[in-house]
Amino acid sequence: MSVKLDAFNKGRMLARSAVPFVTRTLVTDSKQQPTETQQFSAIVVGAGAAGIATTGSLLDILGHGSRIAWVDPDFRGGRINACYREVPSNTIAQTFLDYGKGFESFRRAAQAIPKPNGLTKMEALEAKSTCSLHHAGDMLRRSRMGCAAMGGCRV
Ligand SMILES: Cc1cc2nc3c(=O)[nH]c(=O)nc-3n(C[C@H](O)[C@H](O)[C@H](O)COP(=O)(O)OP(=O)(O)OC[C@H]3O[C@@H](n4cnc5c(N)ncnc54)[C@H](O)[C@@H]3O)c2cc1C
Repeated sequence: MSVKLDAFNKGRMLARSAVPFVTRTLVTDSKQQPTETQQFSAIVVGAGAAGIATTGSLLDILGHGSRIAWVDPDFRGGRINACYREVPSNTIAQTFLDYGKGFESFRRAAQAIPKPNGLTKMEALEAKSTCSLHHAGDMLRRSRMGCAAMGGCRV
């Protein structure tokens, strides 16, 4: 099994374990003083492959428009975009596509985002071939933007 599917399954498991909890988070000013309290259905920490899968799974389970606090210092799509965009993948395009279409929320987001985008470019690649990781990085960015538009709340 590829590393990417591990991140996908990790996301699904994390989302399932998060559902029963209603969490609260504090909004703070620049000096970290609490200014107000907001209520969220879940908090997702990290917007790499695993965090994006977790948020996608939560949106499927909780419903689109649900309030999810999503925390990441830069929202660039994790290590793949930060460090490995020029590295050849060891994962075939079809496996990346299985991730990119793995949740109803990802599939809905794909319809809403103008084409060509990270997913449609991945679809154009040879399914059984590996590719440059920038293709996976672009697809992750698209999935992350789609989740944010459907309820993930960037903090
Ligand atoms: C050279 C190389 C090649 C690779 N090739 C492939 C490949 O071909 N196929 C494949 O599937 N995988 C590949 N990988 C593995 C892939 O990079 C990882 O599996 C993937 O990035 C893991 O995703 P993740 O979300 O768990 O972590 P990350 O991608 O590391 O994302 C973690 C996110 O959490 C955020 N974060 C961290 N700490 C905090 C905090 N305290 N608060 C808030 N946010 C935080 C970070 O900013 C980041 O956005 C490769 C890795 C390397 C090194």
